[in-house]
Amino acid sequence: MQVKSEEKKASLPQKSNFSEWYNEILLTGEIMDVRYPVKGLYVWFPFGFDVRKRTYAIMRELLDRDHKEALFPLLIPETEFMKEAEHIKGFENEVYWVTHGGTSELDIKLALRPTSETAIYPMYRVWVRSHADLPIKIYQIVNTFRYETKHTRPLIRLREITSFKEAHTVHCTWDEAAEQVKEAVHIYQEFYRRLAIPTIVSKRPDWDKFPGADYTMAVDTLMPDGKTLQIGTAHHLGTNFAKTFDIKYEDLNGEQQYAHQTCYGISERSIAALISVHGDDKGLVLPPEVAPVQVVIIPVLFGKSEEITEACRSVALRLKTKGLRVELDESDERPGAKYYKWEMKGTPLRLEIGPRDLKNNAVTVVRRDTGSRETVPFDSIEYEVENKFGDITRNLFEKAERSLNERITRCGTLEEVKHAISEGIAGIPWCKERECGLAMEEAVGAGILGIPEGELGLGSGICPVCKKETLSMAIMAKTY
Ligand code: ZN
Repeated sequence: MQVKSEEKKASLPQKSNFSEWYNEILLTGEIMDVRYPVKGLYVWFPFGFDVRKRTYAIMRELLDRDHKEALFPLLIPETEFMKEAEHIKGFENEVYWVTHGGTSELDIKLALRPTSETAIYPMYRVWVRSHADLPIKIYQIVNTFRYETKHTRPLIRLREITSFKEAHTVHCTWDEAAEQVKEAVHIYQEFYRRLAIPTIVSKRPDWDKFPGADYTMAVDTLMPDGKTLQIGTAHHLGTNFAKTFDIKYEDLNGEQQYAHQTCYGISERSIAALISVHGDDKGLVLPPEVAPVQVVIIPVLFGKSEEITEACRSVALRLKTKGLRVELDESDERPGAKYYKWEMKGTPLRLEIGPRDLKNNAVTVVRRDTGSRETVPFDSIEYEVENKFGDITRNLFEKAERSLNERITRCGTLEEVKHAISEGIAGIPWCKERECGLAMEEAVGAGILGIPEGELGLGSGICPVCKKETLSMAIMAKTY
């Protein structure tokens, strides 16, 4: 199945027109089809789904080290959903309700999960008995539904989040849960490092935390248009949900104690970041680990050449034997058209074999990320390809990290912040007081992401609102 060629535009808008570029690459790059007849619901093309599958395989690999995967129902009874007051307030305007079974009205309405705390925790109440049962670390990868009233956007703001990875853990103590939140953030950093996406970790301000949480840690990245995209969150739930859902364990002294919980999630925003951070004017640029096709081989034929065709097939077979995902493009299109097509698809390496290569017992290797061409010996092609995969991922990360760092501006005044957030992220001293934070957000028309971890969050200065000295730097940005 392919998008019919007449539906494709001759070329992609330049990436500097990010919004147009993004919409076009989803279709031309065959990631998502936006033509499904329900607002905010989109269709994964097979190619896009392949990228998703490989991306989520990394997430599964990281979580499976010490989590278990499970699957809970999509439907949540109103009686469970309405138990946690803060949680309800946070989600009530976004919930889809199932009210009928066939023509009969249901006695108890059923919510389509907007997130699964209220589906999972009634079961945790049954499962958790003793301290020996803890910790529990379970995750699931599911679709969730949210009736978004803001402008919807594929992979970024959806009414059906198709790829919600949510983990829910249970611990004896508050400190153990806090450790788990840190661990979750580490897992996400490792995940995004594999996707070559640089991230900033910060603790969300109190007014922006998950409904029902003690606190929220968030992972953000910077999109090409200077807005940040939240691509992962981890929440310390304290005993808030345990009290609501009566999740208790018997401690070493035989006493009943409320359990401490965490939950953390990522969604297909990870794919939005992957596409947006690395892509360019020619199309997708994918790290080899998640590219559906890692190597394309293109015979450069002048007239008919059995020898060149043979050499290409031989290289394809050798690379496939190594477990690589290889496509030999023997279609009738001209080489230029083939280059264009595989560049659009983000294929990390293109191998060309023409008469001169054949004569020199060599293969021409072209990198998608840099466009560099190099001739390598035919006999060592496996080694050369695998070696270049490492270089490509490293280069993509370094390039993205440079670009992120170049667009972080340390500011001293709110006027400077206003200017800086039109290009990227602003750092500004903040005393951590709620009133000052809200006043800052109001004044610049953008959100405080939080005080970032690491050097970025440090620096002495004066809070622009109350004029008190502080050692904390908040970051502010326009957000998706
Ligand atoms: Zn202040």
